[in-house]
Amino acid sequence: MKAVRGTRDLLPPETALWNRIEATARDVFARYNFGEIRTPVFEDTGLFARGVGEETDIVSKEMYTWEDRARAQSEKTQSLTLRPENTAGVVRAYIEHGLGESGLLQKLYYIGPQFRRERPQKGRYRQFSQIGAEVIGPPSAGSESPLRDAEVLEMLSTLLDELGIKGWILHLNSVGSSADRARYNDALRAALVPVVGQMCVDCQRRAETNPLRVLDCKVPTDQPFIETLPVIADSLDEESKKHYAAVTAALDAAGVPYTRNHRLVRGLDYYTRTTFEFTHGGLGAQNALLGGGRYDGLSEMLGGPRAPGIGFAMGEDRLVLTLLAQQEGESVVTKADAYIAPLGDKEKADELVKLNAAALGLARELRHQGLWIELGEGSFRLKKSFDAADKTARQIVILGEDELQSGILTVKNFSTGVQSKVPRGELAVFLSIPANE
Ligand code: AMP
Repeated sequence: MKAVRGTRDLLPPETALWNRIEATARDVFARYNFGEIRTPVFEDTGLFARGVGEETDIVSKEMYTWEDRARAQSEKTQSLTLRPENTAGVVRAYIEHGLGESGLLQKLYYIGPQFRRERPQKGRYRQFSQIGAEVIGPPSAGSESPLRDAEVLEMLSTLLDELGIKGWILHLNSVGSSADRARYNDALRAALVPVVGQMCVDCQRRAETNPLRVLDCKVPTDQPFIETLPVIADSLDEESKKHYAAVTAALDAAGVPYTRNHRLVRGLDYYTRTTFEFTHGGLGAQNALLGGGRYDGLSEMLGGPRAPGIGFAMGEDRLVLTLLAQQEGESVVTKADAYIAPLGDKEKADELVKLNAAALGLARELRHQGLWIELGEGSFRLKKSFDAADKTARQIVILGEDELQSGILTVKNFSTGVQSKVPRGELAVFLSIPANE
């Protein structure tokens, strides 16, 4: 049996990196006063159809959807979907629990798996993990303010820096209000009429159904045509222009670098005004580390109260790929502080049981004092214990009959080669001193 195409197992030592990323994200979110939300991994299919948009690639071809049969008369058969993204679920929860009634901004973050039936390739999987956050609330809480957009972007720049991601680029755009977008769609449609016949079949379809999506096209021969199309900045109304200018002014004041990218319209229908993406050159074709934007009408689309918001989702898999590429050549293997090697006589079963038991006691003592301990096995020969210890730990502690009697243990440090005799009472302190490397 093998893991399903597009899914994979994450194993140590790489999982240590995943944990470090998540710990850093939690720490940064806490400093910006965000709280964690955990929504279910599957939801009613209608949530995504309405929230993300029927016309999007995600909803039209990438969702894992099934009919969930009723198990009792009181239940209805329901169409369910593994979440392809988490914003719709967060906004559903915001509405369901009346979170807006507090009158305060809700600042929520999540970390968890998402599912899309995409064509797998490097950095693109069918189960992947996103770290994301949303700032949402009633307009009276200041949820429409461009300061919220700038604060989220500033937080992201801090998070990527603290994760150690070097050379990220923030692409920024405004897709305006839905009225602005309707105007822009008309302008695009008109501009596409004379050229679309020479473009790819996808663009020919998009020109009809959703002209904005033409800007996402990656087909090289289409690019010269796309470059001549009108830009959305020219379709923005005064309010949207003011909002965009205020976001960039705040970023300038905070010293967060960005580039304006008028083709950044993003793949989800719910975005309004500010949209953004952070990319990294080391990722290849799938170069987006994260994407997000404002979604001022989403709550109403899902039947909720007015609740403007802004959020983002970061691809954790891509953060890991970027960090692994950056630290290429560096060892990611972390070693235990010590390997405890009970050293007995294979022939004397009783003695072995006693030694192994004593070794467990010693390991427990040291672990309770905060040390990372690997516990060996008394029936191993000395050489086998040393080989195993060298691979997993910085030091080896030998526990034989003599050591047990005297309470003086033999410790060898693998990087210095030094062998020492250490009284049991001083062992924890001795082992915790970093190796003199
Ligand atoms: P989106 O929800 O499409 O805006 O995606 C936000 C971020 O999630 C992207 O910038 C990627 O980093 C990540 N992402 C999206 N789809 C995938 C996928 N299939 N595999 C891995 N990461 C993904």
